[in-house]
Amino acid sequence: MEKRYQLSNSEFPLSLRPSLPASPAHTVLNDVFGYEQFRGPQQAIVEHVIAGSDALVLMPTGGGKSLCYQVPAIVRQQQGRGVTIVVSPLIALMHDQVGALHEAGVSAAFLNSTLSFDEAQDVELRLQTGDITLLYAAPERLNTPRFLGLLDSLYQGGHLSLFAIDEAHCVSQWGHDFRPEYRALSVLHERYAGVPRIALTATADDLTRADIIERLQLEDARLFISSFDRPNIRYRIEEKKDATTQLLRFIEREHAGEAGVVYCQSRKRVEELAATLSDAGHTALPYHAGLDTKVRQKNQDRFLREEGIVMVATIAFGMGIDKPDVRFVAHVDMPKNIEGYYQETGRAGRDGLNADAWMAYGLNDVVNQRRMIDESPAGEEFKQALRGKLDALLALAEATDCRRVRLLAYFGEASTPCGNCDNCISPPAVWDGTDAARKLLSTIYRVQQASGLTFGTGHIMDIVRGKDTEKVQQFGHDKLSTFGVGKDYSEAQLRGVLRQLLATGAVGLHKVMLESGHSFDTLGLTAGSRAVLKGEVPVQLRESVSSPPAKRSRKGSAPPAAAANLGPDAQVRFINLKAWRAEVAREHNLPAYVIFHDATLAAIAERNPATLEDLQGISGMGAKKLEAYGTEVLRICGQ
Ligand code: ADP
Ligand code: ZN
Repeated sequence: MEKRYQLSNSEFPLSLRPSLPASPAHTVLNDVFGYEQFRGPQQAIVEHVIAGSDALVLMPTGGGKSLCYQVPAIVRQQQGRGVTIVVSPLIALMHDQVGALHEAGVSAAFLNSTLSFDEAQDVELRLQTGDITLLYAAPERLNTPRFLGLLDSLYQGGHLSLFAIDEAHCVSQWGHDFRPEYRALSVLHERYAGVPRIALTATADDLTRADIIERLQLEDARLFISSFDRPNIRYRIEEKKDATTQLLRFIEREHAGEAGVVYCQSRKRVEELAATLSDAGHTALPYHAGLDTKVRQKNQDRFLREEGIVMVATIAFGMGIDKPDVRFVAHVDMPKNIEGYYQETGRAGRDGLNADAWMAYGLNDVVNQRRMIDESPAGEEFKQALRGKLDALLALAEATDCRRVRLLAYFGEASTPCGNCDNCISPPAVWDGTDAARKLLSTIYRVQQASGLTFGTGHIMDIVRGKDTEKVQQFGHDKLSTFGVGKDYSEAQLRGVLRQLLATGAVGLHKVMLESGHSFDTLGLTAGSRAVLKGEVPVQLRESVSSPPAKRSRKGSAPPAAAANLGPDAQVRFINLKAWRAEVAREHNLPAYVIFHDATLAAIAERNPATLEDLQGISGMGAKKLEAYGTEVLRICGQ
């Protein structure tokens, strides 16, 4: 018997659970958030922090990081330890985060540059009177003498309970969101000794992790690493032909009317693509750092508050976006590295329902990314690190085996083929590109020897295919022994081979400056070319496929995923509940999912409650929400 009590509650069916007194953390989880069990390592983290120890939490997007500091904040406040300070760079989201806590009946506030002087002063006053459980603050605010003075007095009075440092990778220059203000956060440790700290991030390669520990002086913190797997996300990487057409087809066939994010490299491309999608009848909005702050905020608010919006964005968009029902994340340009790719794709499917991570990838992506590193003003050592990171992403894009196995391996996790990525679902037919690769390489070699010059991809392919162009004539390249040796290959095939040679470093890029100031990229041999030329390294390429893998289409007015299994009566209730929720959300100026998630509404619709008791135990129905909305929910269900 004794042994059984050591098992977690969740391992017993409800009816068999031993009635142990619930821990304060569990009580908060049940009563405040309406959730029955902690997920993964949440419980261990929460208990560790409640006990006053430091923690570094690495958890993927959607893993449930917020509860890891919110539950300790509430429990420690109940114990009379005072306020938790949440450091976050997400100024534009603080209003909604605090709103979500209010909805759950938790006293919270934020301090950032969007508040007027009077509003800020009001928050400071409430802080001093012990009225606030969680205070969200931007790092630049935290570093001001005024704010530190405030913290000093709380600390002296024993009312500084906990520091939660969200998006902790911002402290690292290796992360893609480096914020210099985060560096100053080491002051917390020195100035407020004994106040526990919990740092959280979803970006977690070794380099970034080591940097976080060093910069935030978290050497003594316990490290909690969750699995980084996001099983409901289907990873797909397609060969890029015409990215716009491919994207339109992808959205129309599989995600019409659903919310998604499309990532592009440049602001110009964002604007163009948003316009194209809008013309095609989708509700698409642009987001990039060049837009006016007000426009950006408005577009972000619409994305969060309305249904079925496609956000076309640069990487400026997305950190901290907690919209649960983003059904797809598409990349029409390749990101810089796997961390970026994983972070961005991770914004899909936070609700645990099916979602797609789709990318179109081509030769130009390799060329552009390599060039951006070469041209950056960074030192050689830094560039080398960037190249290593890019190479890992290129290998993922070129892979013909399970994408997830490779992704997880990058984060240090071993796994087996997933069954939910393009390569697992329809294993690609591969062709042997070794011969084509050798022909391309020897052409590059001969051109260089004959002309003392190198040339770009188009010209090299023309020679191999034996095309009699003006340029070929001009340089006499039709006289080369390799002219036309690859005439049986299509341009697409050679392009694919060149892409892989570039991706694996068997061909290098060299920039040539013209007197006019223009420059262009030329191809050259590298140390890695030899092995391919000698046939020691095979070049395996996927057959180009134009049709997408297995369809999972839910078009038009079909019910959203959360309600997919409801009967007809319950469907009606679900639709009515959604309409009611939209009204409440508008009144409270909050996104609908902050009031109730779709999954909660679906559970209510299914249960068809007649009394308030019937609503108890529905996931997401905390005590405060039951009190505030229970009667209304019953009325809607009774309609
Ligand atoms: P992260 O910050 O790690 O990206 P969140 O904290 O936003 O993730 O959590 C993701 C989603 O999972 C949220 O909708 C949250 O309400 C939900 N969630 C987190 N923990 C639990 C739990 N123990 N039980 C049920 N739902 C949870
Ligand atoms: Zn797979």
